[in-house]
Order: sequence, then C-alpha cells, then structure tokens
Amino acid sequence: MHDLEPYRDMMAKCSHCGLCQATCPVYLEDFLQTHLARARMDLIRAVLLEGEIPVTKRFREVLDRCLLCTNCSRTCPAGVPVDEIIAAARNQVYQGKRRDPVRRQLLRRFMNQRGMKGLMGMAGSVAHKMGWTPEELPAPASKPFEKRFKGRIPAKGKARARVAYFVGCATNTLYPDTGKAVINVLAHNDIEVLIPEGQVCCGMPALAEGDLPLVQEMMRKNVPVLAGCDVDAVVTDCTSCGMMFKAKAAKTLPEDDPLRPQAEALAEKVWEVTDYLNQIGLTAEPPPLPESYTYHIPCHRGWTPTVDDAPRNLLGKIPEAELIELENPDKCCGAGGTFFMDFKELAADIRTGKLADIRQTGAKTVLTQCPACRSFLRTQFEDGQVTHPIVLLAKAYGI
Ligand code: SF4
Ligand code: SF4
Repeated sequence: MHDLEPYRDMMAKCSHCGLCQATCPVYLEDFLQTHLARARMDLIRAVLLEGEIPVTKRFREVLDRCLLCTNCSRTCPAGVPVDEIIAAARNQVYQGKRRDPVRRQLLRRFMNQRGMKGLMGMAGSVAHKMGWTPEELPAPASKPFEKRFKGRIPAKGKARARVAYFVGCATNTLYPDTGKAVINVLAHNDIEVLIPEGQVCCGMPALAEGDLPLVQEMMRKNVPVLAGCDVDAVVTDCTSCGMMFKAKAAKTLPEDDPLRPQAEALAEKVWEVTDYLNQIGLTAEPPPLPESYTYHIPCHRGWTPTVDDAPRNLLGKIPEAELIELENPDKCCGAGGTFFMDFKELAADIRTGKLADIRQTGAKTVLTQCPACRSFLRTQFEDGQVTHPIVLLAKAYGI
C-alpha cells in the first residue's frame, strides 16, 4: 500500500463488470460513473501509473470522494482491492500533505497520544463547548478510558483465556463506556484482560489522509506492543481498528521490512470483541433484558467472515431482548471516518437513507461496532441511543 506499482496487475484484473455499482455509497447518491470503482481505477492508472493525464483538482476530488468503505473491494468478483489502491494513490498524490501543516501536526499529535490530552484536550473541550467542532463529534469524556483502567483485569472465575485489549482512540477519548463494558464482560466470562501500555492510534485516519509514513509510524509502535503480549487473542471493539491490524498492517510495510513477519503473526490473533466472545462462548448466562434493538453493520467488516453476524448471535443469547432487523443492515451510514467533514452534504444524504431504515424498525437502541458510525448517526437520531453491542450485553449482566 506504500506504492501503487505492485497494484498494477490487480488493477488490470478489473473487467468493468460494474457489480461494484450496486454497493458504492457515493455512486448510489450522485450516480456519477466517474465515482465507480472501475472508473477510479482507470483514472488512477492513466494519471499516476502511465502519466497520460496530469494530476488535476478534479482528479484529486475523485480520489477524495471515496469513503474507503471497502464495499467495492468486497463485491468485486476479480478481487481488486480498490480501497487499498485508492489509499496508495492518495499517498502518491498527497505525500502526507493533504491538509495544511497545522492540521497535519494536530493529527500526528492526536494519533500518537490516542486522543486529546493536556493543552490540546483543553482546547478541544473549549472548542466543543463553543460549538466550533462539527456537531457529529461528541464532547470528549471527562476522563479517558486509559486514565481509569490500566494493566491487568483478572477473570472473575478461573481464567480460561487471556486477551490483550487494543483500545481505539474513539473508545479512549469519546466512548469509555464501550471500553468499560469490554473489560467487564470479558472478565465476567472468565477471560483475563491485559491492557498493554504503549498503544497508539491504529493508523486508519492517516491511511484516509494518504499519509502512509504516518501509518507506518503507528504500526512500528503498535505491532511490537501487541505482538509481544503472551495472550491467546488481541481484541478490539472497533471494526476499523480490527481491519487495520488484521488486513492492512503488514501491507503498509515494505516487503523486506523486519517488522512484517511480526505484523503477520499479530493479524492471526486479532478479533473484534463480540466475534471473539461468540466464538469462545459465554460462561455466564445473561439474565433477561426486555429491550428491542436494531443493528447497523459497519462497512469495515470484510476482514473476517464472522464479524458482521457476531452481535446478532451473541445478543441472541439474552432472553427477551429482541433484534428488529433493518431492511438494509449493511448499507453505509455516510460517516467514513472524517469523510463526513469534507463532504458534508453527500454524507448527510447517505445518512438520511440509513436513518429512515432505522426509524421504520421502531427500535430505540441502535447497535454498531464502529464509533464513527455511532457518532454520525446519533446526532440525527433523537429517538433513542446509538451504542456498541457489548454495552447492551453489559447492561443485561448488570455490570
Ligand atoms: S471504497 Fe466505498 S466509496 Fe470508495 S469507491 Fe469503493 S465502494 Fe465507493
Ligand atoms: S466489481 Fe471489480 S471487476 Fe467489476 S467493475 Fe468493479 S472493480 Fe471492476
């Protein structure tokens, strides 16, 4: 992903079959053929590989107007990894300079320290109170997760497994309730949890920015920390963080990078937490919880075949809790990390369709494993709450 050239053969595999047109959230809103994966591939080849067309403002827009949702890559019968090719193209065009130097520096600080701390944190809180931040960004938690929970959380009974918990930036800074539910539910089910020190952001925001050197910087910090833990599994509550470690980490490093084997070994152990619990099974039977909920499947789910069904299966074990299915549970919500800030109208239009689907269920609780979807949906969902599936399980347990 650090270079476009290795993708040349894969790009040539695109047969222009057009199957990706049924799944691209951008195309389904603007109906512009230029925004289809096949057209993006042709343009990237002509501009960046063959040099037949110069890099123009419109070309940059075609690169930017993509959520990196991976829908096309998952749909493509030829297995063209479109999202990775677009990320590599952004890297080549922007070389880490998509934003002005101040915003780049802020992003680097934010990712390295996993959220807002010190002066930056204070500035963030003030900006939020003054209404200077997008309404989709909730106020930072008064105390980040890592200030409340550290080290080793023992299993409630005899430990049957030991896991390392990768705490994403959003959970750490915005949604520590998710992190608390993760460690409590795991411990309640006789699983020991280790919160390794030295974790930083998974790198996804830098990938979207076309800043592969910054993604590598994150991997050089995270991979040794996580791969060095003596654990049965590495769990995360965020599907985007999971995707980064499972499907992208090794690819962001050069072929001969000595860290690559470690990144590949780490990938074998990575799980989204509800998927992990569903596979290993619960030891504590959940008490009844007479609540109905619906489930929005995040786009970043293709990294493991079972992650999208995991919350359905796991929460199906709660007596009296009722899942009301969406008509299109896997349809994108429009957030796309920071896409919603750059393409406000388009993102809001995509969200409108999702919210209509949610409202017709009548459910007052929407569950999703992606904090970006959670933030983006909750601002327009006054009818109830948007939260992580593990939070509902913790509620059933009363922990
Ligand atoms: S990654 Fe998503 S938004 Fe981008 S081209 Fe593919 S389907 Fe469309
Ligand atoms: S689904 Fe794959 S092969 Fe078909 S047009 Fe899209 S990118 Fe090309």
